[in-house]
Amino acid sequence: MYLSRLLRLRHTLAFRLTLWYAAIFTISFFAAFAMFYFLMTSVVQSHTDQDLLNEISEYSSLLSLKGIDALETALVLEAESEGVDKVFFRVLAQNGEEIVSSNMSSWADTGIGKTALKRLTNGANHVFETLTVPGHRHKVRILYGIIGPRKIIQIGQSLKDNERLMESFREIFGTTMAIVLVFSGLIGWFMARRALLGVEEVTRTAMDISSGTLERRVPVKARGKEIDKLATTFNNMLDRIHALVTGMREMTDNIAHDLKSPITRIRGVAEVTLATGKSMDEYKTMAADTIEECDHLLQMIKTMMDISEAEAGTAKLAMDKIDMSMIVRDVCELFQPIAEDKGIDIIHKVPITYCLYGDMQRLQRMVANLLDNAIKYTQSGGTVTISVNGDEGKAVISVNDTGIGISEHDLPHIFNRFYRCDQSRSLPGIGLGLSLALAIARAHGGNITATSRPGKGSSFTVTLPRSSPCQ
Ligand code: ADP
Repeated sequence: MYLSRLLRLRHTLAFRLTLWYAAIFTISFFAAFAMFYFLMTSVVQSHTDQDLLNEISEYSSLLSLKGIDALETALVLEAESEGVDKVFFRVLAQNGEEIVSSNMSSWADTGIGKTALKRLTNGANHVFETLTVPGHRHKVRILYGIIGPRKIIQIGQSLKDNERLMESFREIFGTTMAIVLVFSGLIGWFMARRALLGVEEVTRTAMDISSGTLERRVPVKARGKEIDKLATTFNNMLDRIHALVTGMREMTDNIAHDLKSPITRIRGVAEVTLATGKSMDEYKTMAADTIEECDHLLQMIKTMMDISEAEAGTAKLAMDKIDMSMIVRDVCELFQPIAEDKGIDIIHKVPITYCLYGDMQRLQRMVANLLDNAIKYTQSGGTVTISVNGDEGKAVISVNDTGIGISEHDLPHIFNRFYRCDQSRSLPGIGLGLSLALAIARAHGGNITATSRPGKGSSFTVTLPRSSPCQ
């Protein structure tokens, strides 16, 4: 089980981030060490070389001041004090023949570099060599230099101390590297987990939501811009989905409610007629009532389909050059008898012609719905005014009435499907007129806004784009 958990962990982002972090950290550390190691090697070597060069100038002065015997004594003493297996000195003639030397018991196999001698004869001041001498575990640094007329000194120094220093440096590095690897892995894991904490919270919220709690939201903390942005975007998306789901739920409730009443009525009429009806006339009345209720239902379903079509943009608008003034005049004429019956004045203030591009039938329906409402929700003696104006860019159609008005609480909802204000429930209507009018305006690239003062009247303003003015 532990193994399978570990294998699953292998595929997680946190694990990969940790690996990357540890790898980058280790490589950087290794590169820094390599650079430091290289620098240190060259510093140690140049130190050794400098020491050897200093010795040449020291022995050269000794030779010129005190002669070869004094030099020999000095060389022998120096080799003994340093360690005869660590250093040796040989004074050579120009042809390589040995003149004097220190104790060479440990250095019997060390030859004399012919090329080095040649280079000295050709004018070089000194020549360095690094050799592996048989019987010596460590390398030897050898310096050839001129110390007097036709006299060359060969100084050999074992690099044992230098190599030991570098060896212990490598050992320290190995241990440090192991510690660094473990720590970088731990730090990497901690950082990756911290960075992914926000993502995990989004995942947890998504899982909670899929199990039914649509109200859950990802907490937005200051965890770094990207994660907070993700959380905010995710929350916005959830708000939208929540609003849509609530809207759909409300709509289904409304549809169910609005379908229930006519169907119950149809059933009631049929039941009563079956139970009590005896004559043909009673059956005819029942059939007529049924047809009326069915028409009502069909009208409602058709309006809903029209709204959905217009909102989804699937309804192809029959765009043409139309005269808005004419549409308004026609609709007013159509509603004139109803307004007269109610004792309401309809006033239209429209130019002789007002052309724009649009779908004539749909725009007629939009104006009719607004005018129908204005008349329906205005008491006898009131006035409904409809006007058309605007400019090159947009057409503005206003429908104002002196009716019952809409409360502040209802105003934001009146364009929702099936929404009816309490005060209008006694009047006929299904709550779809304004939704359809708005869907039509929006399908044309326009909009409708409403303002109202309860008890004083309402004002609906339609704006439609008017990109190509008519001639
Ligand atoms: P309805 O079929 O109920 O008229 P609408 O979608 O056309 O449906 O209107 C939604 C609600 O907005 C109406 O029920 C009414 O309460 C309110 N309303 C619409 N127009 C007006 C208006 N001109 N004056 C007062 N209230 C209005």
